[in-house]
Amino acid sequence: MSLAEEVRIGKDVNRQIVRQHKVATSSAATKRLRELAKPLLAHVEREGINYTFTVLASPEINAFSHLGGYVYVNQGLLNFAKNDAEVQFVIAHEIAHVELGHCRRGLTYTVRAGELTGGRGAELVQQAYHLISLGYSEDQEFDADEWAFRRMLKIGRTRDEALALPRHFVQHFADKTERRQSAEKNCPDAVIADEIEKHLRSHPPATERVRRLEKLLTVPNGETTK
Ligand SMILES: [Zn+2]
Repeated sequence: MSLAEEVRIGKDVNRQIVRQHKVATSSAATKRLRELAKPLLAHVEREGINYTFTVLASPEINAFSHLGGYVYVNQGLLNFAKNDAEVQFVIAHEIAHVELGHCRRGLTYTVRAGELTGGRGAELVQQAYHLISLGYSEDQEFDADEWAFRRMLKIGRTRDEALALPRHFVQHFADKTERRQSAEKNCPDAVIADEIEKHLRSHPPATERVRRLEKLLTVPNGETTK
């Protein structure tokens, strides 16, 4: 898939997302994302991608990105994050999915098939839109975490700051599990909605994400060509 194609499809997918999801009205929140993204964008390698940041009004703890450099962070995640460093990790992780080409992979085959049959455009946009809901593989998630972690250090964040969000997920998840277990004891049929579980369904377990990142700390000369 060429860069021009990626940018074109990304633009259409974005149009569909902002049509189907409520965009937060707070310009301060969007401004915060842009400010926090700025130092990270100094370290991106793909040329011709113009990153765009949007805050969605959803209370769900979630964020995602797609073709062409569109990054979305839910208001729910901004409420959850304790500080700028945590939000910055989210942004870095989502930029990583674009930088590392994760959002292109599923589509490359579709584009080729489209070329053969001459059918492109709307269907491809639908496919890209659908792929967002499917999420990425565990390996891709770990790679995005690692990319984010290393860039956080590069822009001057401490290791604790760079690990704060994944650790916060672990803590939050443990609290929820404990609360659910005690609720289930009292009321075995209770179905407890858990927004973070929903988010993590497409992600590897939070504890494993932290474990892997902490392991990176012991790697000498922690630089990578990735
Ligand atoms: Zn991810």
